Order: sequence, then C-alpha cells, then structure tokens
Amino acid sequence: MWNFVSPRIVFGEGALDVLDELHGRLALIVTDANMVRIGSVDKVKAHLAKAGINVHIFDQVEPDPSVQTALRGAEIARDVQPDWIVGLGGGSPMDAAKAIWVLYERPDIEPAAIGPFGELGLRKKARLITIPTTSGTGAEATWAILLTDTTEKRKMGLGNLENVADIAIVDPEMAAGMPPRLTADTGLDALVHAVEGYTCSWHTDLTDGLCIHAARLVFKYLPRAVSNGQDIEARERMSNAATCAGLGFGNAMASMAHAMGHTLGSAFHIPHGRAVALFLPYSIEFFSSQAPERFAELAAFAGFPNDGSEQAAREFAQHIRGLCRQVGNPTSVSEAGIGRKAYEEQLDKLVDDALNDTQMITALRAPSFEETRKLFVYAYEGKTIDF
Ligand SMILES: [Zn+2]
Repeated sequence: MWNFVSPRIVFGEGALDVLDELHGRLALIVTDANMVRIGSVDKVKAHLAKAGINVHIFDQVEPDPSVQTALRGAEIARDVQPDWIVGLGGGSPMDAAKAIWVLYERPDIEPAAIGPFGELGLRKKARLITIPTTSGTGAEATWAILLTDTTEKRKMGLGNLENVADIAIVDPEMAAGMPPRLTADTGLDALVHAVEGYTCSWHTDLTDGLCIHAARLVFKYLPRAVSNGQDIEARERMSNAATCAGLGFGNAMASMAHAMGHTLGSAFHIPHGRAVALFLPYSIEFFSSQAPERFAELAAFAGFPNDGSEQAAREFAQHIRGLCRQVGNPTSVSEAGIGRKAYEEQLDKLVDDALNDTQMITALRAPSFEETRKLFVYAYEGKTIDF
C-alpha cells in the first residue's frame, strides 16, 4: 500500500491573491529576519489584511532550524492562538512551520516523536500554508521536517503524512529576487530530489512522472535562471520544477546523496542544495550497476542520448557535474572549500551519520561502512567511482 499526499497547490503569477479570500482570525507567520527585511513578509501581510486576518510574526528561524527554535515557535503559537500558520521562506522556515504547527496542536509530544506512524489528529486548532521564496527545496509540498539536534550536531528527519500543508502558494514573484548563488544551490537541490525520487527504492508510478519532468525542467531552465535573474520564464519554470520534484520525492523518498549531504551540511555548514548536488554524481556511479536503466531513462528524458547501459548511467553523472560547473557549483568536497585535515578528522562520523540517515533506507542497496567511506574520500578529491 502506498500513499500520495499533496497540499492544494496554487501556482503561477498572482498566486498570492488566494490569501485575499481566506477565512480566519489570526495567522502566525513563521519566517526569518531576511524575509522581513526584503519585504516578503509585508507582501503576505497585505494580502491577509484584505481577508481581515491579523498577523503575528515569528522571524527567528535560522538556516537548518534547531529543535529549540521549533519549541520556541510552538510556545508563541500557544500564546497567540493562530488559526493559520504560514511558513514563509526557504526550506528552513517551512520545515520549522510544520514542526511548530504539530507541537502547537500536540503539546503532549516531543519533537523527536513526530514520526510517520500513528495519527497526530492535526487541524483542530489551525491549518498550514507554505509559501516558498526559493525554487528548490520542495518543502512547500512535502510532509518531511528536517530539524537539527544542535547538541549532537545531527539532522533529524521527522514528519507525518498529516503535516503536509493545506495550501502551498508557489508564486514565482516570491522567488524572483534570489541572487545567482542561491538560485544555483536551491535549483540543484530540486534536481537531486528529481533524480533520487526517480531512482530510490520507494518510487512509484505516481511519482515517476513528476520526477522525470522536474529533472528535464532543471536541465533546461536552471542555467538561464542563474545567468539572468530577470528571465521570468526561467524563474517560473524553476518554481514549478521545484514543486514537481517536491511532490515526486516527497511521496517516494530521496537516497544516498541526501544522506551524505545532510551529514556534510551539519558538520561544515555547507548549504543543503550545494552539498547534495555535489554527492549526487558519486552516488549515481555507485548505484549505476544496480539499476542502469533507471538512470539511463532519466538521462534520455533530460535530452541526453544513451543506450540504457551502465555506461550511459555513468555518463549521466558527468552531465550532472557539467550542469554544476555551468552554474558555478563545486563538484567535489575540496572545491566546496573544506580543508583536508578537518574533513579527515570528521570522516568516520560523516560515514556513521550518513549510514544512519533516514534517506539511506531507500537507497538501491545498503552500502557497507567501507564503501561509504570510500565514497566520501573520492568525493573529496573529485575522483570517479570505479566500483
Ligand atoms: Zn534536498
């Protein structure tokens, strides 16, 4: 038995107007200080005002939000009693909003207990809206919640089907101000979602089409969105790609590049999309012999000629490296600016944490400690995987 969950998705130019018709009393906007500074919060507030909804702002979500931030936000929610929670920003504020919502509805549970099994009984106090301001994480459409345990320096994969948003508002105008670096990092994240969603062991007929189309859109439009932020068509198609990929991998799973990227991100504060995109070609090379036809199919849909062989799957890894270079992203850990000594000191912990990451469950096969270690070493030096 499989599930496919999705918010109502309102997308395209003018999508924010849907807020004008909302019924409610008070919205708690969960966001970060930058969203306040650049005026994105004001835009949302103006629409909510048209609906007669008051606003309380919690703008303290940091990149890679911590458990403590979620607890603090939930406490504020209990104080102000919103009937809407709005996650506004990149993946971090949207994930924090999901956690805050669950903890507001269910003060009796610990953040670590927000898991896929059992009923949470949400929507008794509030409902959730997600509004992405980047094009990549797909968090607007997924039920996954990523929080960081700051004492253990470890990312916790949480979430329950119920905590998917009620409404996701994907308005390309909200992401149009992204600088090129953020456009590249987040856009590549969408590509990794598409590729891993398509090739993980939990992919289904319902998720495959979304992932394939998202991958095709990223190859076509990401270079344009990075080189010219004013290219509205490229911006809009990347917004759609990110949400498609979010729905695709969110109803399947990701895989080893995410497991490795999470650990690198926690240890060295590398942005999520940059970290997972860096590892993706290595993980494709590692898995290419397991399911060459899946990678080759994706390559074909993305427009690269191939014969469905393991070699074609490996060439797809090179095409992804090519895209990373084209948008100015690193293709090895050393290029990402991490010193060899610091990396080697952390290596065993990186391997352990990657093997324990929830995204590893759906890898095409379970890699051993030694294999994973070799992958991390090769990824440092930019060496092609030969096993
Ligand atoms: Zn991701």
